[in-house]
Amino acid sequence: MSKPLGGRTITARLKSGENLTEIIKHYENYNAKQRTHNHEDLWFHQRLTRGNAVHNLKKSGSTQGLFLVRESVNIKGSFVLSLIHKGDTQHFQITTSPHSGCFSIDNGPPFVGLDQLVHFYRTGCNGLPTALIHACKGHTVPAFLQQYGENTIIHQAVDEGIDTAVFNQILNHSNCPHLNTRNNSGRTALHEAAARGLNDLVLELYKRGADVKTRDAEGNSPLHLACRGDHAETCKILVKHCFSKPQDRCCGTGWVPLHDAAYYGHHQCIDMLLRHGAACYPRSVNGETPLDLADKRHQTNSLLILQRYQPPKPHYSSSHWLHNAVDRHKAVELLEHAGLRNGCFLVRMSKRHPGQYVLTMSFDKTVFNYEIKNKNNWFYIDDGPLFSSLEYLIDYYCRCSDGLPAELTSPVTPFARNDLPPVPGPSRPKMNERPPAPVPSNNKPSKNHGVIQQSYIPGLLPNPSDTLEDIEPSSIVLGRELGQGEFGSVLMGVWTNPLGKKVPVALKTLHGEHINTGEAEFEREAGVMMGLNHLCIVKLYGICRGETMMMVQELVAMGSALDYILDYPSAVGQADFKLWGAQIASGMNYLESKGFVHRDLALRNILLASKALVKISDFGLSRAVGAGSNYYKASAGGRWPVKWYAPESINYGTFSSSSDVWSYGITLWEIFSKGEQPYGTMTGAQVIQYIEDDKRRLIRPEGCPEKVYSIMLQCWAYNPKERPTFLRLHHKFRSDPDYFNMEVPGHRDNLDS
Ligand code: ADP
Repeated sequence: MSKPLGGRTITARLKSGENLTEIIKHYENYNAKQRTHNHEDLWFHQRLTRGNAVHNLKKSGSTQGLFLVRESVNIKGSFVLSLIHKGDTQHFQITTSPHSGCFSIDNGPPFVGLDQLVHFYRTGCNGLPTALIHACKGHTVPAFLQQYGENTIIHQAVDEGIDTAVFNQILNHSNCPHLNTRNNSGRTALHEAAARGLNDLVLELYKRGADVKTRDAEGNSPLHLACRGDHAETCKILVKHCFSKPQDRCCGTGWVPLHDAAYYGHHQCIDMLLRHGAACYPRSVNGETPLDLADKRHQTNSLLILQRYQPPKPHYSSSHWLHNAVDRHKAVELLEHAGLRNGCFLVRMSKRHPGQYVLTMSFDKTVFNYEIKNKNNWFYIDDGPLFSSLEYLIDYYCRCSDGLPAELTSPVTPFARNDLPPVPGPSRPKMNERPPAPVPSNNKPSKNHGVIQQSYIPGLLPNPSDTLEDIEPSSIVLGRELGQGEFGSVLMGVWTNPLGKKVPVALKTLHGEHINTGEAEFEREAGVMMGLNHLCIVKLYGICRGETMMMVQELVAMGSALDYILDYPSAVGQADFKLWGAQIASGMNYLESKGFVHRDLALRNILLASKALVKISDFGLSRAVGAGSNYYKASAGGRWPVKWYAPESINYGTFSSSSDVWSYGITLWEIFSKGEQPYGTMTGAQVIQYIEDDKRRLIRPEGCPEKVYSIMLQCWAYNPKERPTFLRLHHKFRSDPDYFNMEVPGHRDNLDS
C-alpha cells in the first residue's frame, strides 16, 4: 500500500469523525497545490470555438509555433490542436482511438495523455508543419487527460481495499473526481483494482462508467494487469461483465493479456481467457506467442495448457464459405447479390498468390478483401493471431472482429459444393517454423523515450495488393507527358491487354524520390479506384510495378476540364455546363453508393473525354467512410483545399457525401464562371470568416442562370442535412430542357444507374 495523503487512510479519517466532503476537499487541495503554473504547461483551453482560438493566438502575437489545444464546443471529448505557422493558424484534429482511448494526430503515434502528445510535438515537427514552441496561455490540462495524473481519493480507496459501501459513497459524491484519472504511476483506479483482484470495486467502477479500454502509461488495459496479478476471477468479471476484450493489445509491446498470463505462469488466467474466446497464438510486436513466453520462462503448467488447447469446433465448415472458381469481381457480385449485409463473407483462392486464400467481406455497403497468409501450416491475416487451419481462422473472426471492420456473420455458400478444393485441415504446425513477426503498420519511429509506439492497428487494412490488377511492364509503351501529378508525371501510353487489344492509357507515375512518402497513398488511391465502374469516373485498369510504379488508367482524351475551359472559353456554353453538372452528380451518386467520400471534388479534378462527357478523377484524398457512420474523420491540415471544403470539414475534419455536395457546388461555380478562382485572392482564413462569421457565399457568376445559382446556394447550406443529395442534383440538371438538346452519344441511359 502506498502512503496515503497526510499519512492517514480514508478509513482512519472517517473513524476520527471527518466527513467525506472534507476528505475529498483535502485531496483536491493537495492536488491543486501540486499542479504546475509554468506558463509553458498552460496550453489547454476548455470548449473554445475555432474563431476564438484564432483570436487568442493572434492576441498572443502569432509567433511561429505558438499553439493551444482546445476542446471542441460541439463534440464533447474531441480535441483540436491550433497552431501558428508562417503567420496563419492551422488546426489539427486530435483523434481518440475507439479501441484504446489513445490520442493521435493523423497517422502519428498514439499517446495515452494529451500532455504526452504535446511533449512529443514539442521535440520536433514529426509531421506537423512546425514543432510546438510556445503555449498560448490557457489552463493546465485536466488530470484525466494526462499520462501521469494525480492520486485521487478513488485511487486511495482502492489502495486501501476499502469497504464497498464506503466506495459507493465516494463514487456517488457530487465532488467525486473523474473516474478515468491516472495516478502518479499512470494507472486509473480500475487498473489498480484489477491489478489487486478487487472484484467488487472493479464492478462498481465499471457500473459507474470507468473505461475498461483505457490504457495505463505503459499501454496496458485493466485486463492485462488482472492477468499479471494472477486474478482469474477478476479476468472473468472483466471479460464477461465489463466487456473487456482478450484481443486488446498493449500499445507498446503488442502483448494481449494471454501473453502476460503465460509470461508469469498464471495458468488459471490462461485457462479462463481461452475459455472465453481468446486466440491461443496471438503475436507480439516481436512475433512471440504466449507459448513462446511460457517456454522461455519454464512455466511448465502454462506451457501444457497452451500446448493441449483445442479451439472450439467451428460453427461453419468450409463448404459453407469456400468458393473455388470465384475471382475478385465475382466475389463482389456475390456479396452484392446477398445485399452487402454487414459481416457477410466468403473465402476464395488468391489469383495473385496461388495456394493462398482471400477473405472477402462486406460492411457498410463496402466490400473488403483480406489476404489470408499461409506459412509453415499457420494461417493468419495481417498481424492477427496464428491458426492451425483455415476453418479455425474463420471461426475466430466469426466470434470477434479483432481488426476486421466487423465480425463475420453469414457466409455466402457456393451452389455446387462438390467442386471445392481440399481445405488444409488442422495439421500440427511446428512452433519453430513460424511466419515472421508482424510489422507494426503506421508506426512512425519516435525519438521520445516516453512515447508509446503504435503496434496495434485500429482496423486491419484491406490488402491492396490483392485487390489490384498487376499489369506487366512489357505490355506498356510509354508516350508523351500529359501533366504533372503529386508524386510524378502523368504520361500517355498504350497497353496491350491480356486479350491482345491495344488500349490507349494514361500512366500516373510514382517517381523514385516519392517512393517512401507516396507509395501508401498511391496504393490507397488505386485501391479506391479499382472497385469503381461508372461512365463518369475515370477507370483504373491496374498497377504496373516496373522500375517506376504506375497506375494504368483509362485515357481521357481532352484532359483537364479546367485547362480546357481556360484555354477555349468560347468553345463551351451553358448547355455543356448543365450536362457536366448532371454527369458529375451522377458519378458522385455512384461513389456515395459505394461508401466513398471523394474529399477533393474540384474542377481541376474533372477530365473531359469529349465536350459531352466528363469524368471524375484524382481519388488521392478519397476514403471509405468509417464503420457504423456515414462520415470520415481526418486530421491533416496543411494540404487541404479549404476553398472547396464544407464548414464541418474545416472545423471538425468530418467528411461525408454532404460535404462532397458542398465541393460540388464550388465546382459548379468554377464551371459557370469559366474557370475563375473561387473567392479570388482571399486566403483560407479569410474564406472561413466570409462563410462562417459573415454568412456570405460566392456570388453568382456572370451569365449563370438564377436556377443554377440557387442549386449552388442549396449545396452551400451550413447544415449538411439541408444540402441536396447527388441523386437529386443529377435529376435537377437532367430535367433542364437544355440537357435534352445535348448530344450524349449512347451515354445518356447509362447515367441513370
Ligand atoms: P495528382 O492527383 O497526383 O495531382 P492528377 O490526377 O491531377 O494528379 O493528374 C495531373 C494531370 O494529368 C491532370 O491535370 C491531367 O491533365 C492529366 N491526367 C491525369 N489523369 C489523366 C487521364 N486519365 N487521362 C488524361 N489525362 C490525365
